[in-house]
Amino acid sequence: MYVVTGATGALGRLAVEALLERVPADQVRATGRRIEALDDLAARGVDVRRADYGDPASLATAFAGATRVLFVSGLEAARVEQHRAVAEALAAARVELVAYTSILHAQTSDMILAADHAATERILAEVGVPHVLLRNGWYVENFTANLAAELEHGMVGASGDGRFDAATRADFAEAAVVALTGGASAGDVLELGGPGFTRAELAAEITRASGREVTYTDLTVAGFTEALVAAGLPSGFAPVLADSDRGAAAGLLAAPGDDLARILGRPVTPWTAVVDAAVREVVSPV
Ligand code: NDP
Repeated sequence: MYVVTGATGALGRLAVEALLERVPADQVRATGRRIEALDDLAARGVDVRRADYGDPASLATAFAGATRVLFVSGLEAARVEQHRAVAEALAAARVELVAYTSILHAQTSDMILAADHAATERILAEVGVPHVLLRNGWYVENFTANLAAELEHGMVGASGDGRFDAATRADFAEAAVVALTGGASAGDVLELGGPGFTRAELAAEITRASGREVTYTDLTVAGFTEALVAAGLPSGFAPVLADSDRGAAAGLLAAPGDDLARILGRPVTPWTAVVDAAVREVVSPV
């Protein structure tokens, strides 16, 4: 039985779909908190169960009989405590293999966002569950969310010449499924990302695809934080996001090799294709 946590979210849903291309539906279980979002999967024969990282009883039920589990990282402040509960439930269920969605360079990164992932990686080792670490880079989709505003006002950030070796959620999801279905073994650490871009290169691609001049202005981390708050980001999250640009400037969001293409067995979907498609949705092509 293959189990996906966070299946109500974007990455988990894509992973369930990728699994269904490889294994029969009766060997797939999709879990999340808002399981009403999984009704269509249930109708296709997928086992749907509630799994709340903050509710250990739900985790025991969700992982009962599981052999291989995609553990999608959560999003909440109590993340480490919740992830410990997940890891303990996985160990108690004696699952054969877990793949955890971590972050690039988790154990050496000083990015704020890396701390919980580093702690979770250590917990997985501590509880003794056989696992693969999927150290994902940024989603390309993170960079197309504010396209309309960027076309109007230009792009700001604090990543300097740092590269974001981003890839699509679909590629990360497929890689996770390949890893779970035989493409990786317990103990593997995959640093996953595509050939990426600097923010200046991203701005140049948006300019080319839209025919509208979009410039990149590099700010200080404090300046970028202010800009993010002004753009409507919660004041608690803006410094965390700005800090990840500082991390990118230091090379912490660059992938050290080609693990993603290798595990996919094909080239990573080009970031330019995603950006160009997003631009086409916002403006008429030139
Ligand atoms: P989404 O926000 O689309 O989905 C998050 C998923 O995590 C949902 O299914 C949600 O379940 C589940 N979840 C969150 N907290 C809990 C919890 N306490 N218990 C059970 N389930 C929980 O994110 P994505 O799918 O896009 O990304 C997956 C993960 O990757 C994120 O959760 C985050 O940790 C990380 N991430 C990575 C980014 C990157 O660029 N690499 C960017 C953003 C996030 P439900 O909706 O049912 O509550």
